[in-house]
Amino acid sequence: FKQASRRDTWAEVRLDCIKYNIRMTLQQFHSDVSLMAMVKADGYGHGAVETAKAAIEAGAEFLGVALLDEALELRDEGIEAPILVLGRTNPEDALIAAQKDIRLTAFQKEWLEEAESYIKGTARLNVHIKVDTGMGRFGMAEEEEIEEFMGVLRHCCSLHPEGLYTHFATADSKKTEFFERQYSCFLDNIRLVKDHIGEVEYIHCGNSAASLRFPERCFNMVRIGISMYGLPPSKEIIDDIPFTLQPAFSLHSRIVQIKEVPQGQNIGYGQAYITTEKEWIATIPIGYADGWYRQHASKGAEVLVDGVRVPIVGRICMDQLMVRLPEYRPVGTKVTMVGSQNQETISAVEVAERLDTIPYEIPCMISKRVPRIYV
Ligand code: PLP
Repeated sequence: FKQASRRDTWAEVRLDCIKYNIRMTLQQFHSDVSLMAMVKADGYGHGAVETAKAAIEAGAEFLGVALLDEALELRDEGIEAPILVLGRTNPEDALIAAQKDIRLTAFQKEWLEEAESYIKGTARLNVHIKVDTGMGRFGMAEEEEIEEFMGVLRHCCSLHPEGLYTHFATADSKKTEFFERQYSCFLDNIRLVKDHIGEVEYIHCGNSAASLRFPERCFNMVRIGISMYGLPPSKEIIDDIPFTLQPAFSLHSRIVQIKEVPQGQNIGYGQAYITTEKEWIATIPIGYADGWYRQHASKGAEVLVDGVRVPIVGRICMDQLMVRLPEYRPVGTKVTMVGSQNQETISAVEVAERLDTIPYEIPCMISKRVPRIYV
């Protein structure tokens, strides 16, 4: 493949894997269920535009983003699919959203009134009503609040309630009690909303974990994020996923210098590593400014060189890190931080565990300085 930058460090994104994960997800559902591909946060670090296009090709009908700016970027790139903004949008931007056919989340009666006042019948804005069934985040939680909201909505002639949704806090947990509680609260909310406005075109609650584990509870739309990129929502439910996810993201670099260093030599800042014998030390041009943070060197961190795990030694610098090799390898040898070489794999799940975090963070944390190469 062609490398689009002059750097020796790059992330590879396999769009065929994204398409596979989406197609396999869609197979779990009846054909009247629509899939919203979550491409917020620059496609979870994979690149929003390219992943959105791949997702649409694989059968996604909707795109989901967190911010209006993210939706506008997709429109600027010529993407015409329906887009829903899941976070709060300033009501003064309701008109531009309507003009660009971008759906917004409606979550409060005051927001409705303001958004309506900026459109004043000059356009039609599709909104998805957000209810908070237990996540404790964005959306209406109280029945009374929803009732009042519905009363206001009736008078907003520019706003069309196209969807109704909620978000689960624990769908990726083995324990399902809280999930059940949220689900039953959502059923009550659906009844309430339907009493006011009748049928709603799209009802959705399923993130990756809920969609893959409880497809029968997902109504007629699912919002798939992490699993579309081929990563599990959590380790404990990996066995519940009905197909093998194909990770799309990998991260690579190359040896830019190699030295045979005598025993007792300092490697990097702070004398954090001193060679214990004559050692082969290679410099790799990736550092914390690339999102490969200093914590990556903790707990026996390794990278792959020629299919062999080798340790990172010393502290990670802003632009570089050092590894210890068992033998001489030439400048230009490929180094893999996340992904596979020969039969060996360092997965994003492994890296996340090393950092005490979740796999979601791994591709997201790799900065813009690292070019994404699509294969
Ligand atoms: N829906 C909402 C409201 C979200 O905030 C997210 C992600 O954070 C998703 C869906 C997708 O979740 P996942 O990546 O676990 O599939």
